[in-house]
Amino acid sequence: MAFPGIETVYLNGRFVSPDEASVSAFDRGFLFGDGIYEVVPVYAGRPLRWPQHLARLQRNLEILEIPNPWSTEDFDALAAGLIDGRTHDLYLYIQVTRGVAPRDHVFPENATPTLFAYAQALTPSPAEFYTAGVAAITLSDIRWQRCDLKTISLVGNVWLRQKAKENHAIEALLVRDGYVTEGSASNVFAVIDGVVLTPPTGPLLLPGITRDLVLELMDRDGVKHAERIFLEAEMLDADEVWITSSTKEILPVTRINDVPVGRGRPGPVYARVRGLYQQYKAHDR
Ligand code: PMP
Repeated sequence: MAFPGIETVYLNGRFVSPDEASVSAFDRGFLFGDGIYEVVPVYAGRPLRWPQHLARLQRNLEILEIPNPWSTEDFDALAAGLIDGRTHDLYLYIQVTRGVAPRDHVFPENATPTLFAYAQALTPSPAEFYTAGVAAITLSDIRWQRCDLKTISLVGNVWLRQKAKENHAIEALLVRDGYVTEGSASNVFAVIDGVVLTPPTGPLLLPGITRDLVLELMDRDGVKHAERIFLEAEMLDADEVWITSSTKEILPVTRINDVPVGRGRPGPVYARVRGLYQQYKAHDR
């Protein structure tokens, strides 16, 4: 099988070709989705917000009691080995599972965690995503109660995202008990009455690294914002809606459920904050 753009991957201590990288069918990642992952954008050879991504990864391992024999230096070396001097935009994928063991729900006592990683070219979003915005739909958030953990058990997210695609939308914005949580693969912001709102972190949404960066940039630049819950109805009535993720950066959502958001085009607050994000990226280079 071909893996376009990936010549080398890392698996359990070795850099090998993607074809050579295989794990046991008894890996708990395969049997139970028992593992966690990270996606890190890499610009000019430097992983953006690397310490924050590593901290989230380590926190996930700790909470799920997956053994973590790796130091920060080990992850630094892993990233450097995969980036391999390349300076075009990349993203780094890192996955840890609880390892290979006879199938039993209970954690195995002596399994060695499986560490898999690769770096691949980061395809930028089409220009019209920024100029015209993207379409989203709202769906009921059918996932579990620990969406703060970045687990590889993603069947809920995958299913929701597929429904978005079938409805010609690029994202599903998820709603629990009337309140917006996040997207199937992104965090959500809404500009309501001149304030940029995003739901506070907690068990029901992923503490996105991009979300956090956007909040920090708005703080620094004096853009009025708050971490506050908002209803689906408030979002549908908002002046602007954005989604954020490490690979999508910040995208304006200009149609939800086939109805324009605000004036139906990317708004002024979006333009300002996207500018701040671009500046931050350029500075980080
Ligand atoms: N929420 C979910 C469910 C996600 O899968 C992602 C990332 N793909 C995000 C939020 C955004 O997180 P980050 O900014 O760290 O990429």
